[in-house]
Amino acid sequence: MKELRGKVVADKIKEELKADIAKLKGKGIVPTIAVVRVGENDSDISYEKAIVKVSGTIDLNVKLVGLKEETTTEELESKLIELNNDKSVHGILMFRPLPKHIDQDRMTNIIAPEKDVDAMNPINLEKIFEGDPTGLEPATPRAAVEMIKGHGYDLKGKDVVVINRSMVVGKPLAMMLLNENATVTICHSKTSDLKSHTKRADFVVTALGRPAMLDTSYFTPDSVVIDVGVGTTADGKLSGDVNYDEVKDFVAAITPVPGGVGSITTTILLSQVLKACKQQNK
Ligand code: NAP
Repeated sequence: MKELRGKVVADKIKEELKADIAKLKGKGIVPTIAVVRVGENDSDISYEKAIVKVSGTIDLNVKLVGLKEETTTEELESKLIELNNDKSVHGILMFRPLPKHIDQDRMTNIIAPEKDVDAMNPINLEKIFEGDPTGLEPATPRAAVEMIKGHGYDLKGKDVVVINRSMVVGKPLAMMLLNENATVTICHSKTSDLKSHTKRADFVVTALGRPAMLDTSYFTPDSVVIDVGVGTTADGKLSGDVNYDEVKDFVAAITPVPGGVGSITTTILLSQVLKACKQQNK
């Protein structure tokens, strides 16, 4: 079994980002992400901390914008417009879900597409669907693709099964895989006989959100498994969708949870800030 850890992939990307940031700084440009948080949600705060930490290691500037829970749709909109117009800010990340009283759909369209590092704006999703490389991409599906490529696999002509059809993971991921010339099958909760699909795939990327559900019966000894799922089992253990202890020595390669896909998403997010910054300073 080959364990596909995220760290080696993240470290390589970070080295590339560091070099790019140094070059931009030499031209007087300081790549900057604005992180917009409304309220005090624990998972938002921990993602914010991770962004600050990883940014520090590559010398990327972070502007934290903390807004109170009672912020109105109009107030948030004017803050986002201010950040859109601020030339010193190259990327904007806004944590979702927003508090219920804020019109999230309206906010999705406010962040300027060229600064939309989380690919919330439909224009960026459209670019993924068109295979337009100038678009900004959501971190989780891009992280799944980078885990595969970063460990030396070529996706061209390979059969990939994606278990997830959400707008944040499965649908953009399927398009990214198509752009890599893979043959893609999207599975979901209404798929009949999931095993028949996963067993004939070269790669299985799963994000179904049921901790440890997938056992060896879903795979073959040639399967390469990318586990995007994150959850907690009945006995309180952090786990992906795959029953890792059972499956790890059966398949050809597998990402661990934690330490796999999730461990590179922050780095991927920051790579989108660099992409945005370069495109704004061409
Ligand atoms: P979601 O919107 O609930 O999507 C889950 C998907 O899995 C849906 O398409 C659903 O099908 C499908 N599914 C559920 N049960 C299934 C089953 N028994 N067989 C086949 N398909 C099944 O969730 P999400 O927000 O996309 O997140 C999915 C997972 O990814 C979660 O574990 C989440 O924690 C994880 N995640 C990880 C990261 C990371 O950085 N590693 C980031 C984001 C999310 P239907 O469409 O038919 O309902």
